[in-house]
Amino acid sequence: CSPGKRRKSDKICVCVRKRPMTTREAKRGDVDVVSMSSGKQVVVEEKKMSVDLSAYIQEHVFTFDQVFSENSSNHDVYLSAVKPLVTCVFDRGAATCFAFGQTGSGKTHTLLGSRGSSGVYQLAAADILQMIQSVQLKDLGLKLWVSFYEIYNSQLYDLLNKRKRLFVRENGKHKVCIAGLMETQVTSIKGLTEVVRYGNASRSTGASAVNPHSSRSHAILQMEVRDGREFKVGRLSFIDLAGSERATDANCQSSKQTRMEGAEINQSLLALKECIRSLDQASSYTPYRQSKLTHILRESFTGNCRTVMIANVSPTLSASDNTLNTLRYADR
Ligand code: ADP
Ligand code: MG
Repeated sequence: CSPGKRRKSDKICVCVRKRPMTTREAKRGDVDVVSMSSGKQVVVEEKKMSVDLSAYIQEHVFTFDQVFSENSSNHDVYLSAVKPLVTCVFDRGAATCFAFGQTGSGKTHTLLGSRGSSGVYQLAAADILQMIQSVQLKDLGLKLWVSFYEIYNSQLYDLLNKRKRLFVRENGKHKVCIAGLMETQVTSIKGLTEVVRYGNASRSTGASAVNPHSSRSHAILQMEVRDGREFKVGRLSFIDLAGSERATDANCQSSKQTRMEGAEINQSLLALKECIRSLDQASSYTPYRQSKLTHILRESFTGNCRTVMIANVSPTLSASDNTLNTLRYADR
């Protein structure tokens, strides 16, 4: 990932991915207001009304490290933005990939895949397995272990173990671990796909169509490479973040539960922004304790780490307020 902006650190890469219009959006006459240029720019056209009631269009232009248009595939996103993270894992590092954006903007499509296209989870696992089995590394007896859990309202649930409640522990050296987390060894892409499908199915428990559970929780899939003595070599974490529109639920008229969820999501997205900012500025202080999400991901912001943020956006006029919020967040 080559930085589009002058950054103090090459540890962070921020990209934007626009999804295509759906047939349903096209049928109801919604229009595409998001365009991308080769200069790593995203332009959002906002319809405005002037004082004399004539309509005009205001253009909002943002520049990121990479931009992916509606014509890009999961494979394109993987190759140019995420693949460098796999190298970091074998370099004994902590690599992290966040998918951020409004519900329905394509976060899960990017990570887990949909409509017959493999997601970044599978593509990364394929490369890791290939490395492990390569001639150069074969003798080290490396193994890939996978865990999959969720943070909902600051509480952890194991997606591979019947949503068992999990607790975070921190030792004297600030090393954070999750007690009792189920881990599964994966030796093939087929195995990985089964694990993520199973985990993803346990995400939706208790969800309704208007209020899908996935929009209110963060799902974390971790791939850890260990050597023959079961010592950690490196780790790659993927975070399918709660729908960013939920952060504003804290302010509007809604049920007490929705407000609480919104406040919690807002808090974790703010903490995440601060932690990534401190990474980008190569700052020595990382405010990782400000949310459960950043606390768990502490190693993602310290030492030999690398982070990719994929900001997913919908193309439509009806989603443009959320799109602008997503782009402003990613920009910061
Ligand atoms: P989110 O996880 O952000 O809520 P999804 O990944 O579930 O959003 O995407 C919403 C819908 O749009 C899904 O039906 C998904 O298959 C489709 N979709 C998202 N991104 C793309 C894409 N790049 N190409 C084709 N379909 C997509
Ligand atoms: Mg989703």
